[in-house]
Amino acid sequence: MKYSIARYWRERHSHYRLKAVRCLDCNRVNYPPSTICRYCGSKNLEEIELFEQARLLTWSVIHAATEGFEDYKPIIIAIVELVDSKVKILTQLTDIDLDEIKPGMLLEPVLRRVSEDDATGIIQYAIKYRPVLKRGD
Ligand SMILES: [Zn+2]
Repeated sequence: MKYSIARYWRERHSHYRLKAVRCLDCNRVNYPPSTICRYCGSKNLEEIELFEQARLLTWSVIHAATEGFEDYKPIIIAIVELVDSKVKILTQLTDIDLDEIKPGMLLEPVLRRVSEDDATGIIQYAIKYRPVLKRGD
């Protein structure tokens, strides 16, 4: 997909943040955000950002990246469960070797480059997850 600079500027907040809503009646988190709580039907919701540690549930590795993504191979697509909100999201893993990946491992969100548009020079970023580093290593 080609991006104009104007469009990228308009959408910059949604690219860099993982938005959800918390229900003020049942306290559950709805992701993706909605206007009605999918658990209790309440419209009493507050917007929150999900920037939490997560546990790895499952993953798949893409070795044959499409044009424009060759520099990012292998691309590791994962489903993770956020530790506090219990929200499950589809994301990418980064800063990890394939033989280090273990189900249930603890991950943390980081902002990482996704691609670069040659025509506009726009570098696109998104939230990816990396292993939580053991302090003192
Ligand atoms: Zn609710």
